[in-house]
Amino acid sequence: MWLKRIFKNKKPDHVLLKTAPKNQKFSVRFVQNGIEEGWLKLRDGSIQIQGFWDRKNDLGVVNRVPAPSYQVIKYPGIYCCFCEEMLPDGGIVAQSHVEDKHHGLDSPDAMNKSGYRFKNFYECERED
Ligand SMILES: [Zn+2]
Repeated sequence: MWLKRIFKNKKPDHVLLKTAPKNQKFSVRFVQNGIEEGWLKLRDGSIQIQGFWDRKNDLGVVNRVPAPSYQVIKYPGIYCCFCEEMLPDGGIVAQSHVEDKHHGLDSPDAMNKSGYRFKNFYECERED
């Protein structure tokens, strides 16, 4: 996503998007910044961006439309590398999930040998 903050009286007022992919990962930090600066809302499982999107159609013509909302598909948290289930806790709870459900198997994620990982982003899909 290509995003530019538009300022009013030296404060961020809204944003202008040049691109808004169908599938987007928003980091926790990005969402937090947006909420603090007032151009983003996280509500009812959806991320709402305040501003405009210079949307290009198939012919390459740009139309300025309201910025899209994104539906949150997956929240930040602890996830199992085997079955992608969200786990309520990273310690004993995650370890026993891996032990019970995927006993004796090597983690499919070489970076996370434990079999679970922390995702610090919102996995989203654009609402059209
Ligand atoms: Zn699992």
